[in-house]
Amino acid sequence: MTVERILVDEDATIALGRQLAAALPDGLVAFLHGDLGAGKTTFARAFLKALGVGERVKSPTYSLVEGYDLGDRQAFHLDLYRIADPGELEWLGLDSLAEPGAIVLVEWPERGAGALPPVDLELHFRHEGTGRVVRFEPRSDAGRRLADALGS
Ligand code: ADP
Ligand code: MG
Repeated sequence: MTVERILVDEDATIALGRQLAAALPDGLVAFLHGDLGAGKTTFARAFLKALGVGERVKSPTYSLVEGYDLGDRQAFHLDLYRIADPGELEWLGLDSLAEPGAIVLVEWPERGAGALPPVDLELHFRHEGTGRVVRFEPRSDAGRRLADALGS
């Protein structure tokens, strides 16, 4: 089942990020697809802030990965736009991404193919008029539960 949601403005994207944080299972790997400006970072920021990262959320545009210690668990935000070959990710030491309980959000995941842990939920963002639309594609049981919770 494919679920789409209209995000009329930036606030709607932020609300969705908060909603995902509230519905979060123990661990999660989410891939964020979409063109530049589609709302991926806006969504990731709102999600991480709602998890308690606060104002510390940085953009991983140049660092490729930002990690956050949430006390009992770890969150990671990746932006692989600048990656030309997944082999470039080796030196980043991404092993901790695959640990149980890790919370992982990846922008431009197709550029890290083979170097990323198995995905639970894929979100496809796209422009529509002045707003955005997001499509949920679950890839695991946890992802299906989230897509059901977020789609309505
Ligand atoms: P990406 O990370 O996909 O490149 P960003 O999250 O940086 O995109 O968003 C680019 C711009 O889109 C930001 O100025 C943001 O405020 C705006 N934006 C985010 N969501 C929406 C929305 N639903 N409708 C209109 N503008 C949005
Ligand atoms: Mg971005």
